[in-house]
Amino acid sequence: MYSCGPTVYESAHLGHYRAYIFVDTLKRVLSFNGLKVRSVMNITNVGHLTSDADVGEDKVEKAAREKQMSAWDIAEYYTKDFFDAMQKLNVERPDIVCRATDHIEQMIELVQKLEEKGYTYRTSDGIYFDTSKFAGYPDFARLNLQHLKEGARVEPNPEKRKPSDFALWKFSPAGTKRNMEWDSPWGVGFPGWHIECSAMSMHYLGETFDIHTGGIDHITVHHTNEVAQSEAATGKKFVRYWLHNEFLMVNGEKMSKSKHNFYTLVDIEAKGFNPLALRYLFLTAHYRSKINFTWKSLEAAEHALNILREHIIELKGSKNKESEGREKVESYRTKFLEAINDDINTPAALSTLWELVHEKDVDNRSKLELLLKFDEVLGLGLKDVKQKEEQELNDEIRGLIKNREELRRQGKYSETDEIRKRLDKEFNITVEDTPEGTKWRFKVRKN
Ligand SMILES: [Zn+2]
Repeated sequence: MYSCGPTVYESAHLGHYRAYIFVDTLKRVLSFNGLKVRSVMNITNVGHLTSDADVGEDKVEKAAREKQMSAWDIAEYYTKDFFDAMQKLNVERPDIVCRATDHIEQMIELVQKLEEKGYTYRTSDGIYFDTSKFAGYPDFARLNLQHLKEGARVEPNPEKRKPSDFALWKFSPAGTKRNMEWDSPWGVGFPGWHIECSAMSMHYLGETFDIHTGGIDHITVHHTNEVAQSEAATGKKFVRYWLHNEFLMVNGEKMSKSKHNFYTLVDIEAKGFNPLALRYLFLTAHYRSKINFTWKSLEAAEHALNILREHIIELKGSKNKESEGREKVESYRTKFLEAINDDINTPAALSTLWELVHEKDVDNRSKLELLLKFDEVLGLGLKDVKQKEEQELNDEIRGLIKNREELRRQGKYSETDEIRKRLDKEFNITVEDTPEGTKWRFKVRKN
């Protein structure tokens, strides 16, 4: 599978993370089914222009100029920034991560192939793909080319024969020296954004491969162009299955840089949220449904995740005899598998998980085992959280809670209250006194 990766000129926002959490979940689902997955993701460090089309400045070069760094340093910095975030979101690194700048040779070869077959033409600023030569061009996105012609999809470029034509190779502007530029048979310049993905995906996965992912905003231009240039070059089907994730919304609008309505992982962490709460939030919606991001929904997601972690800790600590309710266990396993195999229905998978959490007729050990198995797909880090927190809880927190219960029985309420405050402040735990004893949970944050 091939996934369109980030353009590394600034920090990604939560909308981008939705795409990569989806890709990670998809890969986990395939592996869970026993399939061997080879996953490739590109890093766009050159060629993505500010307009998303063929005009405007290269995003990485622009950031470099603004920050007075080299384009190479900007790209490396934000590549690292991206993978640091991925790690916090428990997104596994794809098997192959490929930088556009390391594959210029493959891109030039692909453009040459298209040139030989007569799909290209030259303008004063680059080599373009002639979409009128590729009969199936509108099919992928069911485009209405007439409509496109009249509409303002791209800024007018008088040398382009059709609005849908796109740059395969752009020349470095005359009189300027870019940080990133290469010699080519057509002149010094840099690759177009779309050709990067075709060249790298086919380089690593062959001319026809199984799965390609990306955000739904890629359908009409980026992926349409990928299909056109790849299939024009090879004469073969490019991709068997396309999976596109929906947007993350804020107040009814797509979270995006251009609308300035975005949040980053830094914002989430600054408010004290666990990044995995975001992962949980995204899993509560189907990948083809929009999600409206609010701090309240993130808070609710974190609350649910904390309760789940609490259950895991309890299950780990409980001594229960094995192999009770084996049939029930199997039915949960089947139900979960059916959910994830139904077009990655993560909301249904989560609800099966919660049913299992509250199931009385399955012994704790089997329950724990199966929950951790489910988490191989969900990626909520339940396995890791267990060991770390169990240790902490067993030591200090459980000691404090016990001590507090004792003081409470003795009626020493001011000391009881002191411990309650300490638990709250130092461990982010709230305690509640009930007739059955003290109940505690991780506190939900106020914003
Ligand atoms: Zn792409």
